[in-house]
Amino acid sequence: MNTLLLEPGELTGTSGRVRIAGRRREHVYAVHRAAIGDRLRVGMIGGRLGEATIVALDDARLDLDVELDREPPPPLPLVLVLAMPRPKVMRRVLQAIAAFGVERVVLLGAWRVERSSWESPMLGAASIRAQLVLGLEQSGDTRLPEVMLRRRFKPFVEDELDELARATRRLVAHPDATVRCPCDVRTAFTLAVGPEGGFTEYEIGMLVARGFEAVSLGPRVLRVEQAVPALLGRLALG
Ligand code: SAH
Repeated sequence: MNTLLLEPGELTGTSGRVRIAGRRREHVYAVHRAAIGDRLRVGMIGGRLGEATIVALDDARLDLDVELDREPPPPLPLVLVLAMPRPKVMRRVLQAIAAFGVERVVLLGAWRVERSSWESPMLGAASIRAQLVLGLEQSGDTRLPEVMLRRRFKPFVEDELDELARATRRLVAHPDATVRCPCDVRTAFTLAVGPEGGFTEYEIGMLVARGFEAVSLGPRVLRVEQAVPALLGRLALG
């Protein structure tokens, strides 16, 4: 946790005193080993970033004097269309997505998505949000990516994808592609990433028919939790 994030409602306005308990207090107390008078980086989820001074800290409470004085980094103009990962992978991938500042994610069904993935308690709104917050705490951002769940590939691609991807460059990450994934920080992208077993040729064909260009990161087939940050690194950081 590099930035302690406040929930909206914990602080009204952009400055004042807040009391923190639970996981965040524990982290500051036990991991940062902070002391009264120390300064922490803080932010408000959905709001500004700033600094706080610790005015009380013990094994039950953390009191902070907070001043939020600057905007978070601009979001990464990227829609990630991600075949629903297995729950274990999902946790890490969601954190990475938030840490990179992705604006919007669609968790999508595909032929080779394991059915049981959709039953995971990880997919509850609160669980998804908790993972995204961990990613934001890591990177020092406050903007939560918007997450959409779409269980059926075909209706999503036929009815919704074109509108979502409007005015963006469309890419589908595919290990077999002959074109290298571009590095470009200035363009808005829609990026599709397949499931552990890959997209089927039919699915790739449907995406290509809607203007998606198949691009590769090279001959090594990466796991989803490796491919996503590698792709975002190229697209976000150039
Ligand atoms: N057996 C599958 C591998 C899927 S890996 C296949 O051969 O297609 C899971 C997803 O990660 C892929 O669908 C793709 O979107 C992405 N990915 C993994 N390695 C990649 C690479 N080298 N280049 C581009 N995308 C990759």
